[in-house]
Amino acid sequence: MGGANNTLRIKPQTRRPSARPSARSGGRSTRQLYFFGRGKADGNGTMKEVLGGKGAGLAEMTKAGLPVPPGFTISTRVCKFFHEQRTKVPKSIELEMEKCLKRLENITGSEFGSTENPLLVSVRSGSQFSMPGMMDTILNLGLNDQTVEGLKNKTANGRFAFDSYRRFIQMFGNVVLELPKAAFEAELQAMKKSRGINLDTELDEIALREVVDRFKEILKGRDGCQQLPQSPLVQLKMARDAVFRSWYNPRAREYRRIYNISEDIGTAVNVQMMVFGNTGNRSATGVGFTRNPATGKKKFYGEFLINAQGEDVVAGIRTPQPIGELRRVLPKAYRQLRQITTNLEQYYKDVQDFEFTIQDEQLFMLQTRSGKRTGYAAVMIATDLVAEKLIRPKEAIKIVEPESLSQLLTPVFDPVAWNNIPIIGRGLPASPGAASGQIVFTAEDAVRWANEGKRVVLVRKETVPDDIHGMVVSQGILTATGGVTSHAAVVGRQMGKPAVVGIGDLRISETQRRIDINGRSIGEGEFVSFDGLTGEVKMGSVLTKPSEVLQVIAGDLKVSQSTIYQRLTRLLGWADQFRRLGIRANADTPAQAEAAYALGARGIGLCRTEHMFFEEGRLPIVQRMILANDENERRQALNELLPLQRRDFYGVFKKMRGLPVTVRTIDPPLHEFLPKRELLIAEVAVLEATDSDPSKLSEKRRLLARVEQLHEFNPMLGHRGVRLSITYPEITEIQTRAIIEAACTLAKEGVYVVPEIMIPLVGLVEEFRDQRLIIDRVAASTMSDFGVKIDYQVGTMIEVPRGALTADEIALEAQFFSFGTNDLTQFAFGFSRDDVGKFLPVYKDRKILEQDPFESIDTNGVGQLIKIGVEKGRRTRRGLKIGICGEHAGDPRSIHFFSEVGLDYVSPSPYRVPIARLAAAQAALESQDTSLTDRRFHKTAKSNSKWAKLSDSHPKQQTK
Ligand code: PEP
Ligand code: MG
Repeated sequence: MGGANNTLRIKPQTRRPSARPSARSGGRSTRQLYFFGRGKADGNGTMKEVLGGKGAGLAEMTKAGLPVPPGFTISTRVCKFFHEQRTKVPKSIELEMEKCLKRLENITGSEFGSTENPLLVSVRSGSQFSMPGMMDTILNLGLNDQTVEGLKNKTANGRFAFDSYRRFIQMFGNVVLELPKAAFEAELQAMKKSRGINLDTELDEIALREVVDRFKEILKGRDGCQQLPQSPLVQLKMARDAVFRSWYNPRAREYRRIYNISEDIGTAVNVQMMVFGNTGNRSATGVGFTRNPATGKKKFYGEFLINAQGEDVVAGIRTPQPIGELRRVLPKAYRQLRQITTNLEQYYKDVQDFEFTIQDEQLFMLQTRSGKRTGYAAVMIATDLVAEKLIRPKEAIKIVEPESLSQLLTPVFDPVAWNNIPIIGRGLPASPGAASGQIVFTAEDAVRWANEGKRVVLVRKETVPDDIHGMVVSQGILTATGGVTSHAAVVGRQMGKPAVVGIGDLRISETQRRIDINGRSIGEGEFVSFDGLTGEVKMGSVLTKPSEVLQVIAGDLKVSQSTIYQRLTRLLGWADQFRRLGIRANADTPAQAEAAYALGARGIGLCRTEHMFFEEGRLPIVQRMILANDENERRQALNELLPLQRRDFYGVFKKMRGLPVTVRTIDPPLHEFLPKRELLIAEVAVLEATDSDPSKLSEKRRLLARVEQLHEFNPMLGHRGVRLSITYPEITEIQTRAIIEAACTLAKEGVYVVPEIMIPLVGLVEEFRDQRLIIDRVAASTMSDFGVKIDYQVGTMIEVPRGALTADEIALEAQFFSFGTNDLTQFAFGFSRDDVGKFLPVYKDRKILEQDPFESIDTNGVGQLIKIGVEKGRRTRRGLKIGICGEHAGDPRSIHFFSEVGLDYVSPSPYRVPIARLAAAQAALESQDTSLTDRRFHKTAKSNSKWAKLSDSHPKQQTK
C-alpha cells in the first residue's frame, strides 16, 4: 500500500452514464453491469436507482480514489427482469458477468477457482433505499475443497482459510439453499462446547475443518448427494439469484410496507473482491457513523471486532468494541479511517454511515451512505451542519425526514416516578425514548398481545430482520447482546422505537419464559420500563410524561432549558421561509387549538362541531335533540346546546388570535349519538322481566322505537352531512348563531376573526344554496343583534366525487373549498373507511394496492378528482381558497402532491403540524429543483477540488 502522497485524482465527470443513452441502443441505455476498480467506475453516486445505494456509493468512492475493493454491480433492472421472467437472467447478462469477472481477475491478479491465488468475492444486495439487513449477503464465495487449501497455502493461515470456508458454507446453505440458520449454529455451538471454549475465534484449524465437514453433512440433499457446487461460477450465479429472490422475502416486504417503499424498484447485486477482517489480530471489521445517530453529537461513533467478518458486527454475535478503541489497537488504520470518513461527510454534506474492513492493517472502505438517525439527532445534525457552514438552511431542510419529527413529540418518563425506582440493569442506549410494557419473547407473541390491546416490550438475545413485525407493535426493544449498530439498534432508531441493547447481565430463558437480570427474575407479562437515551432498565410500569418539546409548549419548561426545542424552532423557521403551502390544523377544542398554534399552525382548517357533543354532560341534550318528536322539541334541545357551542367557538377563535377558523356544520349520522339498538333491546327485556317502574320501561321502549326508526342500512352513505342539515334546518340555524355570536363577542373585545362556515358532503350546488340561505339569514340577524359586522365566509367540503366533478357549479356559491380526502377516498374507491382493514392487507400482499389510500393520497384516482376540483373551482372563481383537511394533510408524500396541484393550505392534526411544515418546504424546494439531478451532477463535476481533498488523506488503493 502506498503512502499518503499516492493519491488518485478523480477526473471531472463530464457525463452521467445512466442519464445519457447510447446511440446504439436507439435511445435507451443497455448497460446492466457496472464495473468499479483502480480509481475508475462505470457508474457514479447519482445512480442509486440503477446501482442501488451501496453500488452508487462504491462507484463514487472508487472514483475518489478511496481504498475500495474492486468489483461490479449488477443493476436493479436485472432484478426486475429476473422476476418478470420467472426468476431467469438473460444470456446476455451471463456473458456480461463473465466479462466483468475476467476484468476483476486481471486487476486483482487472482483467479476464480485457482488453487494458487483464488479470487474470492462477496455478493451483497443493495436497493435504491437502504433496507438494513432485510435482504441477503454471501461472503467468501469462490471457496471449494481445493481453493480453500490454496487460500491456506497463500496466506500460510489455515485457521483463517477454514474459518472463511465454514462461513461460506453457512451462508450459502442458509441463503441460497434455504436451510435453517439454526442447524449451522447448533453445530458450531456443539464444537465450541466440545472444545470447552466460548468464542468462535478460539476454534483452531482442526476444529474448523471438522465444522466444515459437519456443515457439509447439513448440506446433503435427500439423495445424500452434496449440494454445495464446487464451481465458483455456478456458486456465483446461484448466489446472485438468491439475492434477487431475497427482494421478495417476507421481512423485506414487511419493511417496504412499513416504509412505503415501492415493490417494483428491485435490488442491485454487488460482487466485490473479498477483503478479510478475520485473518488474525491485525485485522478487523466494523461499522460507524461520523456523528452520533441517536443524539446527533459530533463524535465519531461506531464499533468494530478484531478478527471477524462483517456480519459478526451487525448480527450482534459478539459484543463489539467502541470505535475509539481502534485508535489503540490499530492506530494507523484508525487515523486513515477518521480522515476518510470526515472527508466523506464534507463531500456528501451529511452524516455518513460507513462499513470498513482492515486486513492485516490495511484499510478498505466497503460502504458509505447517509446515516439513518433519530428525529432528535436529525434536527441537531441539520442545525449543526448549518452552524458549521457545511450546508445552507435550504439543504438542512432537505436532510431531515419529516416523519422523524414525530419522535420529538413522543412521551418521556416522569422524572420523579422514574428516579424512585432502582435500576436493575444497564445496556447500550441505542434508540432514545421512554418505553414501558409487559415483556414478551417472540415477535409473534408481541403481535398477538398488542392485538389484545396490551403494551409490550420485546426482549430478545438479539433481534433479526424476521422480528420486524414484532418490533413494530412493541413499545420498545431490549436485547442481551449486540452493539449500537446491531439490528435492534439500527431498526429501533429508524422506527423511533426506544431500544437498549447489549445488556450484558441479561439472561433470557425462552423456554421458561423468564429473564434473569442481576439476581432478579422477571416472567413473561411482567412490566419493565427503560430509557433508550441512558440505557437504564427498571422493573415495573413507570408513568410517562410529555416530551421536552411539548413541555416547552405547555409552559412547563423554559425555552432556554431545552436545546432541542430551540433547534426545532430554528429548523422549522427556515422551512417556513421556503414553503408555499399554508399550514393550519384540525382542532375541536381550545386546548387543541392552543397546541396547534404553538406548533406553528396558523389557522384551523377543520373544527368538527359534532366532536363537541361528546363533552361531558352534553350527550343527553344531543340525544333529546335527535329523539325530539317535532321541531319544537328539537329547538328546545338545540337552544340548550347554543350557549355551550358558543363557548366552544369563542375558546377556539380566541386561541387562534384572529387567524381563520373553519367550523364545519354537523356531519355524522345521528345514530352515532344514540345508544346501541342491541343494548336497548336487552335493557327493555330486563325491565319487562323484572316488573320494574312502568314509566322507565315506556321511556326505554320509546327510545328503542326511535332508534329503530333512525336505523340505516348504510350510515356512511345515509342521513349525514348536508342532508341532515337540509332535513333539520334548525340545526344549521343554531350552529350559525353560535358561531357568529362567538365572533361578535370577540370583535367587541377587539379580536377580529373571520369564521369560515363549512358545509360537509355537498354533491349538488342546490344543497349548498339551501344551506347558504339559512346561514346568511341567521348571520345577518345575529350581527344586527350585536351591532357588529363580521366578515364570515361560507364554503364547502369537497368529499363526494360529484362535488369534485361539479366544482365549477359549486364554486358559483361557495367562497372556499376544503378537500375531505377521508370521505373522498372512501367514495372514490367504494372502500368503507371502517372496514378497509379487513381486506387491505391482502390487497397489499397481492400487490393490488401498494399503500393504504387512507394514509397516503392515491394520486392516480382520488388525486385526479382533486385536480379536477381545483381546476373547475378556480375556473369559476379565480383565486378560490382551497385547502385539505383529511388525514392526508399530515402525510409528507401527500403534502408533495397537494403542493404540486396548487392547494393553498393543508390542515393536519395538531401534532403533525411540524411534519407538515417541513414536508411543505421540501415540496416547494423540490419543485424549484426540477432538474435537481442534473444540477447535482454539475456540482459534482465542478467540485473536483473537494474530491481531491477527499482523496488526499489516504493512500492509493492497492490491488493485487
Ligand atoms: C374527510 O372526510 O376527509 C373529513 C375531514 O371529514 P371526516 O373525517 O370528519 O368525515
Ligand atoms: Mg368527511
